[in-house]
Amino acid sequence: MLVFDKKAELTEYLTQQRQTGKLIGFVPTMGALHQGHLSLIEASLSQTDLTVCSIFVNPTQFNNPQDLEKYPRTLEKDRELLEKAGCQVLFCPGQQEMYPNVSYTNFSFGLLETVMEGYFRPGHFHGVGLVVSKLFHIVQPNLAFFGQKDLQQCRIIEQLAKDLFFNVSVVVVPTMREADGLAMSSRNVRLQPGERKEAAILYKVLQESANRLLAGEGVQEIKKAAERTLTNTTTGVRLEYFCIADGGTLQPVKDVQQHKQLALCVAGYVGEVRLIDNLLLEL
Ligand code: AMP
Repeated sequence: MLVFDKKAELTEYLTQQRQTGKLIGFVPTMGALHQGHLSLIEASLSQTDLTVCSIFVNPTQFNNPQDLEKYPRTLEKDRELLEKAGCQVLFCPGQQEMYPNVSYTNFSFGLLETVMEGYFRPGHFHGVGLVVSKLFHIVQPNLAFFGQKDLQQCRIIEQLAKDLFFNVSVVVVPTMREADGLAMSSRNVRLQPGERKEAAILYKVLQESANRLLAGEGVQEIKKAAERTLTNTTTGVRLEYFCIADGGTLQPVKDVQQHKQLALCVAGYVGEVRLIDNLLLEL
């Protein structure tokens, strides 16, 4: 695997590769890689000729300085995992390389970010938009792979690519889960053993709610029941939101009949760790 930390060197290498007709796949990450990230690498390897993975803990997308500080950093192990997975190129720039000057450009994504993560993490998607735009310019991928686990991020990147004429297809890859259903996340390592067990409640509630929706129960009823279960003190979850939204616009749903795809989304703290998850339902 080739490793670059300078954008100019990576761009030069990729220009040569593009000239030989190679289709370039891109998997942006913040490292602390797990099987979920590796499933994006596998998807890219199977759909493109050259897979570029980036590892950069992007400070502008953290609205909570403690979360940034505590974010796990395991570059050596990540490098080994990527090598084993067959990834061809790793880009791991330093802070100065990605942000050589103060940024003035501001991203806002309208209604797409007034809900859920956008509402609870003000400024988060500005940071995501900024760093992904920079990375898309550097890598110029044909296909870029993002995890459904961060569904709102996927919708925002799809919009960004469309609005800014990035010539890239955004591929959404299903969420990889632990045996008890917990969505894999770099943050899971920060859960204490008891919390780790409790965290499985998030997916369980999503599944139960999806079943109730399919059985024809009303949206408000299901939402209330889910919120009740998740805020029950014995579960140890500090719920931020449970939403039943349109799968495309992510706006809250009133009448299920009017939608082709629904997204059930949840976020909350287990101990000190903020976790998110979602399920998509085709109707
Ligand atoms: P991150 O390093 O957390 O920024 O994630 C990098 C990419 O991996 C994003 O597109 C995430 O949505 C994706 N990802 C994270 N966790 C999972 C998972 N459990 N399954 C699939 N993709 C994931």
